[in-house]
Amino acid sequence: CGIIGYASPDAEPAGDVLLDGLERLEYRGYDSAGLAVANSTIEVYKRAGELASLESTLDGTDLVGSVGIGHTRWSTHGPPTDENAHPHTDCEGRVAVVHNGIVTNAEALRAELVEAGHVFESDTDTEVVPHLLEEFLDRDLSPEEAFECTLERIEGSYAIAAVVAGADAIYATRRHSPLVLGLDGETTYLASDVPAFLEQTDRVIYLEDEQIVRLAPSELVVRDGEGSVVEPPVETIDWDP
Ligand code: GLU
Repeated sequence: CGIIGYASPDAEPAGDVLLDGLERLEYRGYDSAGLAVANSTIEVYKRAGELASLESTLDGTDLVGSVGIGHTRWSTHGPPTDENAHPHTDCEGRVAVVHNGIVTNAEALRAELVEAGHVFESDTDTEVVPHLLEEFLDRDLSPEEAFECTLERIEGSYAIAAVVAGADAIYATRRHSPLVLGLDGETTYLASDVPAFLEQTDRVIYLEDEQIVRLAPSELVVRDGEGSVVEPPVETIDWDP
């Protein structure tokens, strides 16, 4: 139901920034929450229930990383359990994905991926996404190419954000589900709604359907559905946080 992302040369506060963003998205409603911080490996924490359950799982652990993603879930496929909470990962823990919306062809994709040897851990429609990414990364595609190939396979409505171990970037897109970027110097935020980062910045880019964005610390690249780099307008929000 809610997505938050953080890419910044200032790796120190990643965990706190993500938790803070999730708190600000609570008003949208949710039944589970989770986050992932990516360095050379990916750390994932997720829990059914209130954000307080996620925080107690973290137990004061300082999550440091220059890229991270977080999610509040409103279940559509599978009950609110720890396993069904986002982020979802591939078999090797090389990829973590958060998703708002519904992947309508998930059942067929899941059958195909299970046939190819992928082991699923949740009941969600979302989990096909990290396994597709894994499949394409195993074919030696770059993370960005793997993300694009994955999007070609999925149908439905979605906002998706993914991190890949060692890639130092967030790959994200939207289709009939909101996704907005917040710009604050070399730091970029990603969220399903502006309040998630409005305390930090009021400079935003509203992504359009099918645009694909790569958020790295100090670098932001937005491409249209055909792969051409675009320069979307930056707007200034004038409401009080
Ligand atoms: N369809 C996904 C699920 O059930 C995402 C739901 C959401 O938008 O939070 O996990």
